[in-house]
Amino acid sequence: MKIGFLGLGIMGRPMALNLLKGGHEVVVWARRAESMQPLLDAGAAGAASPSAVAAAVDVVISMVADAPDVEQVMLGEHGASKGAKPGLVAVDMSTIAPAAARDIGDKLKAAGIDFLDAPVSGGEVGAIAGTLSIMAGGSDAAFARAKPAFDCMGKNVVHVGPSGAGQVAKAANQILTGVGVLAVAEALNFAKKAGADPARVREALMGGFANSKILENHGQRMLDRNFKPGFKSWMHQKDLNIVMKTAHELGLMLPTAAATTQMFNAMVGSGLGEEDSIAVLKLLEDLSGGER
Ligand code: NAP
Repeated sequence: MKIGFLGLGIMGRPMALNLLKGGHEVVVWARRAESMQPLLDAGAAGAASPSAVAAAVDVVISMVADAPDVEQVMLGEHGASKGAKPGLVAVDMSTIAPAAARDIGDKLKAAGIDFLDAPVSGGEVGAIAGTLSIMAGGSDAAFARAKPAFDCMGKNVVHVGPSGAGQVAKAANQILTGVGVLAVAEALNFAKKAGADPARVREALMGGFANSKILENHGQRMLDRNFKPGFKSWMHQKDLNIVMKTAHELGLMLPTAAATTQMFNAMVGSGLGEEDSIAVLKLLEDLSGGER
């Protein structure tokens, strides 16, 4: 299959590489030439704009930042919709608000293009390993067309429901991961300040009900004080704002997600936005007498 890929950052780059490894013809575009180079070196073709990518492929995938970026690469002046061949399926795998995904889907449909929202979970590690969780919203026909591409990038590929349903699942995921990363940071900071070795505490907790991928992966990186992103804190703030805005629209109470959102607001406000979301540990330490 011919697959286009727009946006080659921390996640997009390894995802597009896995499409190549899966034997697909891949055409890429990124707004900075240096972002495209690793894909060109690996055998992908480059194109000058999203519309030029769309003209050459059957399925076009975007992996950018937020809803305005998806609008731009899909529907903008040189967006994918401007070059689409009949039958093109457009897939956005970024994390954006469910309402924004439905709106973009409607606009693309009006241009004759079927659209899937298909955000992912599993982080950079999962993107490199091709083991992402992929949660899709959209028509059965579009899902069937995109499935061979999903199978190269993910292990747990679920068609959640109609347009927007994938982003609803992802927002639910971000409640769990946001609260989870804060909980792990709190537990490890607590253990250390209360006089136990946090590495041994983590090891002990990993055998019980408190174990999680977040304790395993993020907990280890907290112990290593490896704050290189991974998943940037400003992105987690973006995702929690999507959660809180959707909850506001629906009149839902999300007390722990709300508190976690405040922590991520403070991360960005205190200059930690470009660091990994596990740097929430630093903020807790700052508010608890420093790192000891
Ligand atoms: P990233 O490294 O910042 O990559 C985003 C890429 O999109 C960048 O290369 C950026 O280009 C490009 N981009 C952004 N806006 C654009 C626009 N308007 N036009 C063209 N290109 C644009 O971020 P990431 O971590 O890969 O995240 C991508 C998406 O995946 C986000 O929605 C994020 O929430 C989601 N996500 C991330 C993770 C994770 O662990 N990192 C996990 C699951 C989901 P430049 O390089 O030129 O800035």
